Amino acid sequence: MSFFQATFRFYEELNDFLPEEKRKVDFCHSFAGHPSIKDTIEALGVPHTEVDLILVNGEAVDFHYQLQDQDRVSVYPMFEGFDISAVNKLRPKPLRHPKFILDVHLGKLAKYLRMLGIDCVYRNDLSDPEIVKRAVDENRIVLTRDKGILKHTVIQHGYFIRSSDPDLQLIEVLKRFDLIHQIKPFDRCLECNAQIRPIAKEEIIDRLPPRTKDFYKDFCYCDQCQKIYWRGSHYENMLGRINDVVKTMNSDTKKYDYFDHEADIGIIGKGNTIEEAFVSGAEAMFAIMSELTTVKLVQEIQFDFEENDDELAFVEWLNMLIAFAREKGLQLAKFECRRDEAHWYGKAWGDRWENCLDRGTEVKGATLTSLNVLQRDGQWQARCVVDV
Ligand SMILES: [Zn+2]
Repeated sequence: MSFFQATFRFYEELNDFLPEEKRKVDFCHSFAGHPSIKDTIEALGVPHTEVDLILVNGEAVDFHYQLQDQDRVSVYPMFEGFDISAVNKLRPKPLRHPKFILDVHLGKLAKYLRMLGIDCVYRNDLSDPEIVKRAVDENRIVLTRDKGILKHTVIQHGYFIRSSDPDLQLIEVLKRFDLIHQIKPFDRCLECNAQIRPIAKEEIIDRLPPRTKDFYKDFCYCDQCQKIYWRGSHYENMLGRINDVVKTMNSDTKKYDYFDHEADIGIIGKGNTIEEAFVSGAEAMFAIMSELTTVKLVQEIQFDFEENDDELAFVEWLNMLIAFAREKGLQLAKFECRRDEAHWYGKAWGDRWENCLDRGTEVKGATLTSLNVLQRDGQWQARCVVDV
């Protein structure tokens, strides 16, 4: 069997997992065959859940990548949300068991997270300065739909929630902070966030509703707010809903995605054709402004334009949609795109803003930043940064 060599370098706190001589330096690793990069990294001592980004010869790869002779591998840790301070990418201390503090508009998300046993402070009357102070004092990650609060330089860890829909918000947070393996239902008070404890039925029997007294035998108690919990139908329903959410999360059927870009948001539309990728890109952009599934499709717009260049056509397509939406006061939620050489035809449907359930972050327009339209492995991807 022949042996190969690759050069590795681990960054930031991933070095905690390495022996002294391998920390913060390039080192050679010998291997046989074609192991996956995931197995190799774990064999070197670093759990894959700590890893956020792997570059091989300068290109990002996923965990399935098979290591080749002479590869140069750089491995980066999870960053807790996007970094607020541009200067210092380092965290003073990694957050292995993330705790959160939620902005005042995220009450439903707070309940969902508490149901999963995740520690999150939420009160609908907290002021921005109070949120900032508790985030710093208690080393909590700020979750918000308001970028302003994340600009406070004292905040080390923050995440700007993209979606306006609580189910999708939960998916976002679980994914972004890799919380799936930390879920512990029936562990935390939904009202006050304190940890709850099992309690004997006799101790609280006077406080139970008659039917509950007859039907349930296991109870938990919150010492902080004196609330009693049992696994009734309401609780089971909510848990069922969360299970559905997690299932959706794993099926990964979504045709669009986002990437962080300083104070703005990068969008990625995917599809089997360039037109499908453009449609997914439009969905990504309008989903920042509102939950698309709640928008009625009662108004229609149509337009067309000339553009030879695929990439410029993507920006033009997005900006025409934005311009129409603004001019007519619409939130758009469904899109059609057709191309005939350099001629592009667009259609979109939506509803007037005043009839929509919520209004998220406004997108001002698509930009040329990180603009890229390409076909890879039979899949089209269109990406760019949008101004918010
Ligand atoms: Zn409580």
